[in-house]
Amino acid sequence: MQQQNERQTYQGLMHRVQKKLMVRWYNELDAATETGHPAVYLMVSGNCVELLRAFDVLPVYPEINALQLAIRNKSLPALLKSEELGYATDNCGYVKADIGANSLGDKATLGTRLPKPALILCNYVGCNTYVKWFEHLAALTGAPLYVLDIPFMRQETASPEDVQYVVRQLEEIIKLLEKITGKKLDIENLKEHLKRARTAEDLWCEVRNFSKHRPAPYDAYFDNTTMMGPLYVYRGMQECIDFFEVAKKEFQERARQGLGAVSPEKFRIVVEGPPPYPYFRKFRDMLAHWGACAVASTYSTVGGIWEFGFRHDSNNPLYSIAEHMISQNLANRSFLQRYEQIDRYIEEYSADALLIHSVKSCRLFSAGQGDMREYFFRQREVPTLFVESDLEDPRYFSAAQMQNRIDAFFESLEHQKLYKSHPTLSSGGPR
Ligand code: SF4
Repeated sequence: MQQQNERQTYQGLMHRVQKKLMVRWYNELDAATETGHPAVYLMVSGNCVELLRAFDVLPVYPEINALQLAIRNKSLPALLKSEELGYATDNCGYVKADIGANSLGDKATLGTRLPKPALILCNYVGCNTYVKWFEHLAALTGAPLYVLDIPFMRQETASPEDVQYVVRQLEEIIKLLEKITGKKLDIENLKEHLKRARTAEDLWCEVRNFSKHRPAPYDAYFDNTTMMGPLYVYRGMQECIDFFEVAKKEFQERARQGLGAVSPEKFRIVVEGPPPYPYFRKFRDMLAHWGACAVASTYSTVGGIWEFGFRHDSNNPLYSIAEHMISQNLANRSFLQRYEQIDRYIEEYSADALLIHSVKSCRLFSAGQGDMREYFFRQREVPTLFVESDLEDPRYFSAAQMQNRIDAFFESLEHQKLYKSHPTLSSGGPR
């Protein structure tokens, strides 16, 4: 019976609207292969999608294509294809799935076609794999490549010099987009896109705050990942605002009725690291079985961090896009900033534990997570579970091993809770 309740929570209205929007986007990309509607490839992290949309250019995210393959259990043939082409087993799984799928044909893998890009825009944010990945895509598609060099965060905030450096590059990109579309930038149109982006960012923050409720009406790891699709594909458009209005209404009502994403909610966890997309649902079930609900996650801020106050500013369009690209996304920030973010989450969302899902083929995320575990467990005394698999490659997910680790951790956490509520018993807890 409990299993049934866990599963019922997966497909609310938010999920259905998300699916429609993502299908619509893929259909638009498919149609663009016939109509020649301009499309630009770019990265999710700290992107400038509002600028593309202001030119009526379609965004294509190779990362989203890769994760779509994984979540639909279609990544393995693409990974094997890329290994056949010479990619090493430990190369980034996203790159391998994307390049492999490109070689096998989009229709055969994604089910719809992707347009030939008018431009490969490598918004290089934090991870140097991006540059090589997009160089390969440029070579495969024959499209021109622009590497937008985003300086890594070296201090708490983005310096004006760094922001200006990015603004200059955005101006070059505008010239390229003008050439591609044959239109001059309509600055008022860009401002309108930024205004709508700001409204969506407000809503995204409101939605995230619902997981402060007890029980949390939605899961801030799995469901937030679902919400990231419309946030990156449609940000700056009315569709994005409408989507988050739906999510807000749904979660507000669930919170009012006291409905939890996990029932009963026994543990509130913060999750660090990307999900194991090939086993997305299984991983969720493993946690839900213990009544563990994610109340916050770092991965959901990989493309933008708005909850700490930043918003796109239509009065200062290029400056605010540049600032967002440098400082307001997880990928371009230091590990210490990530520690602070997790610390805040644990405090503000009243979390019981931290779960680190380390991804074998993504060094941007996984390097340093061992130290992170030590820091939170030993210095902050936060029960911390460290598990490992991959975001793309199903061969790295060992269900039995994962289940054992999760079971042992939550069993121990359960005992610890029991000891806390009965102080006369001697203490124990997860190690
Ligand atoms: S290594 Fe990680 S951050 Fe870099 S492209 Fe691959 S998945 Fe993305």
